[in-house]
Amino acid sequence: MNNKDKSFSPDNGLEHAINLLREVFLEQDELPDTCPDIGIGELDTLNLLAPHVLGRAAHLGRPDVFAHMDPPTPWITWATALWNASLNQNLLHPATAPFAIEAEEKVIKWLTPFFGMNGGHMCSGSTVANLTALWAARDTKGIRRVIASESAHLSIKKSANILDLSYEEIATNTHGQLDSEQLDDISDACLVLTAGTTATGEIDPLELAGQAKWTHVDAAWTGPLRLSPTHAHLLNDINKADSVSISAHKWFFQPKDSALIMFQDPELANSAISFGGGYLATPNIGVQGSRGAAAIPLLATLIAWGKNGIVEHIDKSMLMANKLASELAKEDSIRLWAKPKTGITVFRPLACSTEDFYQRLPEGMLSTCILQNKTWLRSVAANPLADIDTIISTIYNVIHGNNTG
Ligand SMILES: *Cc1c(COP(=O)(O)O)cnc(C)c1O
Repeated sequence: MNNKDKSFSPDNGLEHAINLLREVFLEQDELPDTCPDIGIGELDTLNLLAPHVLGRAAHLGRPDVFAHMDPPTPWITWATALWNASLNQNLLHPATAPFAIEAEEKVIKWLTPFFGMNGGHMCSGSTVANLTALWAARDTKGIRRVIASESAHLSIKKSANILDLSYEEIATNTHGQLDSEQLDDISDACLVLTAGTTATGEIDPLELAGQAKWTHVDAAWTGPLRLSPTHAHLLNDINKADSVSISAHKWFFQPKDSALIMFQDPELANSAISFGGGYLATPNIGVQGSRGAAAIPLLATLIAWGKNGIVEHIDKSMLMANKLASELAKEDSIRLWAKPKTGITVFRPLACSTEDFYQRLPEGMLSTCILQNKTWLRSVAANPLADIDTIISTIYNVIHGNNTG
């Protein structure tokens, strides 16, 4: 390539960027207050920004981090995300992204059979995936009502709102699952079942799938468990759904923004959610217009790790969550919400306030949630690099008042 503008070609500044990833930053220089007229150049910009961008973020692969659904990402995804950024392919235009489109088709073809689905596409998150599913339900089946449990993710209510559909919230049973006894006639409705509620990781009764006019399973968190021979049964009956969403930037270890919306009948769904336009060679499917090649890091991860590699990381995380829960269950001054179903362990101290307890834990170790009007501590097994013994002993020390600082 004969390009004099060096800003657009590979440069050893990129190596510097990688080296900065390994550094620890103690000091930061202030950023300019206003948009600078004259740029400082790429290398100085990396040096200026590194302490902010790299130094002021949680490091999700730290051994004591067990707090949120955001996983650390494997380096193969950094490399392929860099390729993506440099190519800036647009899935909207097949001409700019012939292989990226193939990559997405391949990923969809590899993953949909685990869920009994037959097609779909990628999008920026399960919020958009859920919106896409309800949109397809409305415009293929004439659905006007959405029914979900009170523990469903807020994106379901948000989507119903955007689509002008009525939203009915069903109470949960003592396990935190949608209480099927509270359902009346659902034959004209879209039933949304959550496979892995965001707060406690509960799975709604998936055997209800197929009984409503459209069933959508929000498997944003737990979907990848379907690949695990040990845990796949937790999502039995998901194959009877009409649509399934998964956030690949959760338990598929992808950088954001990466999610899948999958359909039982993709032709039918696509007929409702596709729009053509004068400048488009092929119709635009789904909510987003221009979108990047999120399939490439996912494809790379699936090839580099294989299905077994993904499963190994998820299974290990599940084991750690279960170990944490069984240790907590031995403590008289701890109330465990329930045995964790899908890697989310929720508990609360009985001898002090949850806030006090939380303050005494290292930052980023756990998160909190509100259940039954009380604050609970929540741990999410998204980090396969966690050292569960250290986490358990840190919590133990807080329980028993040994202040380790
Ligand atoms: C995380 C989550 C979502 C939202 O997914 P995003 O990828 O954050 O948009 C939806 N539903 C459930 C159950 C979730 O856990």
